[in-house]
Amino acid sequence: MIKRVLVAAVSLYLPVFGLGQTGQQPIRDNLQYTLQVPYPVEKIPAPKKGKIKNVILLIGDGMGLTQVSAGWVANRGQLYLEQCTHTGMSKTTAANKLITDSGAGATAMASGQKTIYHAVGVDTAGTDLHTLTDIAKRNGLATGIAVACSITDATPASFAANNIDREEEEEIATDFLNSNVDVLFGGGRRYFNNRKDQRDLLQEMNAKGYQVINSTAEFLSTRQAKVLALVEDGQLDTAPKRGTAFQKAAIHTLDLLKTNRTGFFALLEGSRIDDMGHMNNLPGVVEEVLDFDQTIGKVLQWAAKEGQTLVIITADHETGGLTLLDGDKGTGYVSGKFSTGGHSGVMVPVYAWGPGAEHFTGIYENTELFRKIQSLLRLRQRN
Ligand SMILES: [Zn+2]
Repeated sequence: MIKRVLVAAVSLYLPVFGLGQTGQQPIRDNLQYTLQVPYPVEKIPAPKKGKIKNVILLIGDGMGLTQVSAGWVANRGQLYLEQCTHTGMSKTTAANKLITDSGAGATAMASGQKTIYHAVGVDTAGTDLHTLTDIAKRNGLATGIAVACSITDATPASFAANNIDREEEEEIATDFLNSNVDVLFGGGRRYFNNRKDQRDLLQEMNAKGYQVINSTAEFLSTRQAKVLALVEDGQLDTAPKRGTAFQKAAIHTLDLLKTNRTGFFALLEGSRIDDMGHMNNLPGVVEEVLDFDQTIGKVLQWAAKEGQTLVIITADHETGGLTLLDGDKGTGYVSGKFSTGGHSGVMVPVYAWGPGAEHFTGIYENTELFRKIQSLLRLRQRN
């Protein structure tokens, strides 16, 4: 009661001080957010059925249905993601734990095998697994990975490295010497050139034929087909501070890969949705989801122009146990609550667009994503 009287008194005085009505103030706490300037979403028609030459897998790390919904409300009820013609549900459990991490989650998608919590690119016994990037490469496709975190972080590491412990980022960095991934973009330079063993992996990568680059601007102007771009010592900035750096780098990755006539497999990760979820920072989650969605928009436009490209968008797990409590898609206001500082055990959505999209409907284990991609790209697995 006292509270209500105080609020009434304060709101009476606010106009006098030129602050406007309380309801219209920009909201700054971590559980509410209002997007000031929404972006328009243009219609991108999906091509009719056809040959699949390229597959682009986009992973929103920690992006459950609620994170998507929060972005949708904030951007006034529209997302590029909604243009996907087919949807499914992916079960994310690790081999030894209901609630997975990015290592076991991404390894399942990369290799078709469930593994233990915190492992990357190895099975439950610690044996190296063949991942989609290895197999695609051996079948003559070009491969690329672009992320907004360190390139040695769990999701990219699951595709390009093999380690029972995702924390061993210096060891993971050495695996890139033999990964054969053509285009690599992300952060984490310090795991390559500021190491306990004093090795300079940047020089070693260069000796392996990689053009080594250390800024986004330089990456965007390169035409080299084999390139290692490590644009930060650690992770890239979070959105909106990052600007359009990741969106542009993702598209440039595709432009570099398309020079391979046989086709390509690309992994693009909206890496930092997860970090914002761990911090229980709703504005951060929304900003990251919207940056990822705009990346998706650019990818769909690219794929519509190029043709023969299947686009799949999913997550490794949900982060934060986020619930939406209120919102207004007329104003872009959204409010929510988190139930954990970790991950949750819910299924995550899968969205697909382009030729072959119809194969992604239904409810399945995350390992099926590997099998579907392998079969649609007609990849033969051999040692
Ligand atoms: Zn996480």
